[in-house]
Amino acid sequence: MLSKEDKDADTLPEITECYGECGVNLEKIVRRIIKYVPPDTLRGLREIRISGRDPDNMAFGCYYKKDRKIELFAEDIIGWQPWLLKKTYIFPYLSTGLALGHEIDHHVKRNDGRSDKEKSAENNALKYVYPSFGPFKPVAKLLFLLLRRFFNARKTI
Ligand SMILES: [Zn+2]
Repeated sequence: MLSKEDKDADTLPEITECYGECGVNLEKIVRRIIKYVPPDTLRGLREIRISGRDPDNMAFGCYYKKDRKIELFAEDIIGWQPWLLKKTYIFPYLSTGLALGHEIDHHVKRNDGRSDKEKSAENNALKYVYPSFGPFKPVAKLLFLLLRRFFNARKTI
């Protein structure tokens, strides 16, 4: 018999949204990223929820192991960006990718008790987002790494 997790294997996680207008279509960005992640990466992940703001104002996203769910905080990722940056598309895209890639790594490593989860997530975030960059891979990768450095001060849990 198939376990619940096996049954979930071939279905992409449901994307749910619960946030106000932030000037960027985050759902579209999330959909593009998960379309290109390496196979098996999202196995067992049930939901990616895009909500408003982290209640503790600490993080860009959160992974809930028990619920197999990722939550992204739109206001923390995008809300503060000046409209000119939002218009670039690539900047919001990379910011979202930074947060989503981080949480995807938490999902992938959810049963790995030994490693330093935060370090792993920081180092691997790019790996999950990179395939979706398409023809912009070299420049997007460079910007991604710069952005990661810039955001490092803020904790993503
Ligand atoms: Zn984390």
